[in-house]
Amino acid sequence: MDFALTPEQAQLKESVARFAQSELNQDLPQRDREQAFNRAGWQRCAETGIQGLPVPRRYGGQEADPLTTSAALEGLGYGCRDNGLCFAINAHLWGCVQPILTFGSESQKERFLPRLCSGEWIGALAVSEREAGSDAYSLKTRAARDGDRYLLTGSKMFVTNGPVADLILVFATVDPAKGAHGITGFLVEKGTPGLRAGPTIEKMGLRTVPMGELTLESCAVPVENRIGAEGAGLALFNHAMEWERGFILAGAVGAMQRQLEQCRQHARTRRQFGQPIGAFQLVSSKLVDMQLRLEAARLLLYKVAWLKSHKRPALMEASQAKLFISEAWVQSCQDAMQIHGGYGYLTESEVERDLRDALASRLFSGTSEIQRQVIAHWLGLP
Ligand SMILES: Cc1cc2nc3c(=O)[nH]c(=O)nc-3n(C[C@H](O)[C@H](O)[C@H](O)COP(=O)(O)OP(=O)(O)OC[C@H]3O[C@@H](n4cnc5c(N)ncnc54)[C@H](O)[C@@H]3O)c2cc1C
Repeated sequence: MDFALTPEQAQLKESVARFAQSELNQDLPQRDREQAFNRAGWQRCAETGIQGLPVPRRYGGQEADPLTTSAALEGLGYGCRDNGLCFAINAHLWGCVQPILTFGSESQKERFLPRLCSGEWIGALAVSEREAGSDAYSLKTRAARDGDRYLLTGSKMFVTNGPVADLILVFATVDPAKGAHGITGFLVEKGTPGLRAGPTIEKMGLRTVPMGELTLESCAVPVENRIGAEGAGLALFNHAMEWERGFILAGAVGAMQRQLEQCRQHARTRRQFGQPIGAFQLVSSKLVDMQLRLEAARLLLYKVAWLKSHKRPALMEASQAKLFISEAWVQSCQDAMQIHGGYGYLTESEVERDLRDALASRLFSGTSEIQRQVIAHWLGLP
């Protein structure tokens, strides 16, 4: 068993972290306040190859294996304090790029992947609806075949990147009577008649990534934009969730590393009662717990990456990683705030923003309760 990254992987992680530190953090508190998406930063990330990490070179990507991709995204999360931008990139990668890579036709790959890798296009995934959240298979958006096109009608909620997306993977049903087996995926391009993206919805954290509602009114999607066969949406959804849950928090592992270093520094330099606060065991034990959570989170992430690098299924491991990393991140953010005392509660400290951002990770891509349900299923529980 080899726990080490190769020298090339370690170098990539390091160089992405350095790039992110120097180019992606400017004016962040202001952008957070104004809910401003850093489109220029998005473009710079694309120029360094991040939006095309797992994509073969012939479609404009970097052809990185899953472990290399995780290492790069961890480096991004370490260097980029803008968790919203990291989340935008992850939603694009795992919600749109990866499903096209696995389920898309050759023509769809050629048409869409180069623009998604270059940063020219932003991808999104639209599954959730107002009445279909955790119970995603109960979605109501209809897709009715009409000659060489489908007419999509319905509305989608919580679409990350929705207000700025150029290509959205929309899940709809071709026949509600078929239940989950009627669900089908469609690649809907911005500007398609009948597609309307709502404005950015204000939210507690991850404020720099736009999220909105989508309305589809007899939205005419050509048959060649259907991804996979009619009714194959279930497999597509499960596949997308495996990758998304497995990797969407790679950046959070990097963020936890950065946070730990910041807290360690504070615990060494902040003095109370004539000594550094890190000398108090009630403070140092928080740092120890943060270190343990970080180490376990990274191992769970790398386990998924290793399985996927060996083309093995990782449905349970992906849910384990998602559940553990999200809960660990939230707990470590709370510890970070406690270690910083009242200063951590001030917006200028940038400690409180991480906590607001981290809380979302227990909700998106399946809540913590749903991850537990998935793991219970794999344990053979009824
Ligand atoms: C920041 C953010 C980004 C998102 N991005 C996207 C996106 O890009 N695309 C997209 O399609 N969706 C997205 N979502 C939606 C997300 O997937 C849903 O919010 C999530 O699946 C939960 O659905 P819900 O909000 O409707 O809550 P509900 O399903 O109504 O759940 C409410 C509560 O009930 C619990 N619950 C529900 N069912 C069970 C059960 N069987 N057992 C135990 N507990 C249960 C839940 O865990 C939760 O605590 C995003 C959400 C957030 C917050």
